[in-house]
Amino acid sequence: MEEIHETAKAYYNNLTEEQKSKAKEMFHSMDLNGDGKVSVSEYVKAMEAKGFKSCSNETFFVGLDKDGDGMLDFEEFMSLYYLYKSNRLVFCDGHGCRAFLKGVYFTCVDCFKNASNSFDLCSSCFSNKNYTHKHSIILDNYMLLRSMEGPNKEVLIKGFREEEEVLEGFKRWWLFVRKD
Ligand SMILES: [Zn+2]
Ligand SMILES: [Zn+2]
Repeated sequence: MEEIHETAKAYYNNLTEEQKSKAKEMFHSMDLNGDGKVSVSEYVKAMEAKGFKSCSNETFFVGLDKDGDGMLDFEEFMSLYYLYKSNRLVFCDGHGCRAFLKGVYFTCVDCFKNASNSFDLCSSCFSNKNYTHKHSIILDNYMLLRSMEGPNKEVLIKGFREEEEVLEGFKRWWLFVRKD
């Protein structure tokens, strides 16, 4: 989370005054009792209201709460705001997992086009097949990004669709790589 805190701070420092006041507005709207901090229950309520039903994940809150006082002050809230604004509030859809996904994770190519309803997996749920999903093409986020850039994107995705064995090979490679 340290990297996320740092990134969020840098991001905040580069916001315009208007954007900064929007961030403060969101903070105050989450701080229901107005004590200047966001508690776990205020956080859960706000996230549920925004449609993040299952990111009331304790581990995630603890990660945001840098000084460990059980509350988010404005600076700690900035990390949440940054993740929210940059669409990086992603949680594992594996059975019973809900881990916050930072770094490498896996996402369904078909569902990715529908940002509000993406299907995402942590590497552990993906490799252990701890999921049920209607689509079959699941790529890691870096690979997905590569397949999205440039004029080749449809060709690449189509390629993956047609060459299931490539994907199987990739899965084997991933299982091998993560053995360290
Ligand atoms: Zn899907
Ligand atoms: Zn998972």
